[in-house]
Amino acid sequence: MLTVQRVVLSSRPGKNGHPSPDNFRVEETSLCTELKQGEVLVRTVYLSVDPYMRCRMNDDTGADYLLPWRLEECIDGGGVGVVEASKNTQLATGDIVTSFNWHWQTHDVIHGNCVQKVDPRMVDGHLSYVLGAVGMPGLTALLGVREKGHVTCGAGQTMVISGASGACGSLAGQIGRLDGCERVVGICGSDEKCRILVSQLGFTAAVNYKKGDISKALRDNCPNGVDIYFDNVGGPISDTVISQMNSGGHVILCGQISQYNKDVPYPPPLSEETQEALRRKNITRDRFMVLNYMDKHKEGLELLSHWVKTGQIKVLETVANGIENMGVAFCSMMTGGNVGKQIVKISD
Ligand code: NDP
Repeated sequence: MLTVQRVVLSSRPGKNGHPSPDNFRVEETSLCTELKQGEVLVRTVYLSVDPYMRCRMNDDTGADYLLPWRLEECIDGGGVGVVEASKNTQLATGDIVTSFNWHWQTHDVIHGNCVQKVDPRMVDGHLSYVLGAVGMPGLTALLGVREKGHVTCGAGQTMVISGASGACGSLAGQIGRLDGCERVVGICGSDEKCRILVSQLGFTAAVNYKKGDISKALRDNCPNGVDIYFDNVGGPISDTVISQMNSGGHVILCGQISQYNKDVPYPPPLSEETQEALRRKNITRDRFMVLNYMDKHKEGLELLSHWVKTGQIKVLETVANGIENMGVAFCSMMTGGNVGKQIVKISD
């Protein structure tokens, strides 16, 4: 038996409530480490906190591909760790493995079929990137831009990204630039984040949506209008961007985080005015879901890995420490406490 720590969901914020660290509880439990055939003992190294988890905190996630977390049960999400013992012919002690359904637990016993083996060279030894730039958020940025953005190199396009300093947004802007947009303008929640986007990630400009007149700031920074909008947030920010889009433009409907603490369907309904603007200007706004492109993930991860290793993409991360801080890290990410991907380090 091994004494492990795990995080359970102790209460729900309610569909219209803001999540709080009190919704999560850390507890100790005993793990039987006697492995059955096919099983592995894994030590958790990094865990991910992601906006979609807010839906899993509700009784009903509102999405058929997402199950709600159950009260008093161990939470799961993206994780990466090391195999410490194996009775699986495909996995050996020391292998690095990942899963979308990793328990928020310091060690776990799982069937080897439930994890994917990771080649640490893909991330240059930075295992946390498996949960970020060379993982699901990276693929979301890459495939979102490539499948829904219609970027044409040399066409002088302007791309705007909301949630631009977060995991997906910070990568989407850099990919828009690499793919040939002339201007890449980010929208995010602080002057410091704006500064980082421009000085470190090569965004053309960035706008702090918490300060001043964002409509004017966008107009000033997008003198030729907006051709492509990578939308991570929805709500009034998106109404403003769409009002400045050019005819024939494309909205990449990636996420709507500004609406996740509200009891509204996904995607949330648009105002009559915004719907009319989309119709009049013949703007596409297709829902994008990274999980719908599983056949493109392997190739996508290879490209992201290449970009990261060659320095063409810069990776930003905010790392919290300790399993006891999972709830705090999740709530911090939901309110803008992160720059780049929010990660929690569980062990060395
Ligand atoms: P981020 O790393 O971007 O973290 C969330 C960020 O959202 C915060 O840092 C905060 O930054 C911003 N934010 C929070 N509340 C608001 C608000 N009310 N208005 C504007 N911005 C807000 O998370 P991810 O990169 O993981 O996810 C970004 C989006 O992408 C989410 O909507 C998520 O659901 C979506 N997503 C979609 C996928 C798909 O397949 N379609 C897959 C993965 C993610 P700030 O300081 O700027 O406010």
